[in-house]
Amino acid sequence: MSSLYIHIPFCKQACHYCDFHFSTSLKHKGQLVQAICKELSMRKDELPAAVENIYFGGGTPSLLSETDLNLIFKTIYSEYKVVNKPEITLEANPDDLDFDYLKMLSGTKVNRLSIGVQSFFEEDLKLMNRAHNAKEAESSILLAKQFFDNISIDLIYGIPDMCVDRWKANLAKTLELDIPHISSYALTVEPNTALKHFIDKEIIPPVDDDLAKLHFDILVETMQSNNFENYEFSNFGKPGYFSQNNTAYWTGKFYLGIGPSAHSFVNTTRSWNINNNSKYIKAIDAGELPAEREELTTTDRYNEYIMTRLRTKWGVDLKVVETEFGLNYAAYLMEHIQEFQQQGLLALDKDILRVTGEGKFLSDGIASELFMLNLK
Ligand code: SF4
Repeated sequence: MSSLYIHIPFCKQACHYCDFHFSTSLKHKGQLVQAICKELSMRKDELPAAVENIYFGGGTPSLLSETDLNLIFKTIYSEYKVVNKPEITLEANPDDLDFDYLKMLSGTKVNRLSIGVQSFFEEDLKLMNRAHNAKEAESSILLAKQFFDNISIDLIYGIPDMCVDRWKANLAKTLELDIPHISSYALTVEPNTALKHFIDKEIIPPVDDDLAKLHFDILVETMQSNNFENYEFSNFGKPGYFSQNNTAYWTGKFYLGIGPSAHSFVNTTRSWNINNNSKYIKAIDAGELPAEREELTTTDRYNEYIMTRLRTKWGVDLKVVETEFGLNYAAYLMEHIQEFQQQGLLALDKDILRVTGEGKFLSDGIASELFMLNLK
């Protein structure tokens, strides 16, 4: 099974922490949608299996109109084999989700919403320069529930000055609203963002790793005790509500990324489109794919397997390491996990290696210690 990811590179305003690719000018939205449809047609033979899930990410996909969405769906369904009842997610910002927009969306093929709430508190939303306010964060969910059952929200923790009580109140509100899935990320300070600038100028206090770890521990404990499974480091779902898109990504399934800056992974090739809207449109108009490609070596694939699987509840399967990558990789892994096992950060259950509760927050760091050097 495979996935389609469609990148919609427009936002109403720039959030202070964001380093994704987007433009705040919607002038070329129509041309961009046409180019996305053309790229979909150009790449229709790349996926080796039927499309199981479609994900509109961004940017802000909830800036797409009914006409835009229907044009994209018409192209997908005429050019690709799509399974019966695929999961089709649209990322949406709360300020776009009024009654009319939600009603329109529910009449399209979209059947799952991922709402960028981030926080239910005005002070956090202002600090991050989100386009919505606290009232809209809540009202958008209440409205969305009238039209969609499968809803996820994003929440950010580790925000400077966000005390433990405020974080707990965010989680309590999430539970009260009875949403079946949440994705939650630590606020990270990326280079060349307004957040980095404000922290450097001491306008905003720095991000505190200990606070982020404390928030994360509260998050895991709260969600797990309320029937959510922490199936991937940042993702929590009730039974039957794990995101198929996230699961496919973290378990190494193939996906095609369409649109500026979108990444793809098919067979042993990774590719990424240019992150410039005008250059993307121009190249696609000329029938060229503005993408760079990289052939993954066995070592690259081993490293990615360790990195992605260690973040999930499914863990690293030693038998898979042995058969997919070779005995030398399995031996290397066994040798390097010992220290982490002794520290209680990794645990081996039969052939499955997982981070322990204690090691969870350190998953990425532990994974990188298990990487093999690429001797190309
Ligand atoms: S809405 Fe999302 S993509 Fe757009 S600037 Fe904010 S965080 Fe970035």
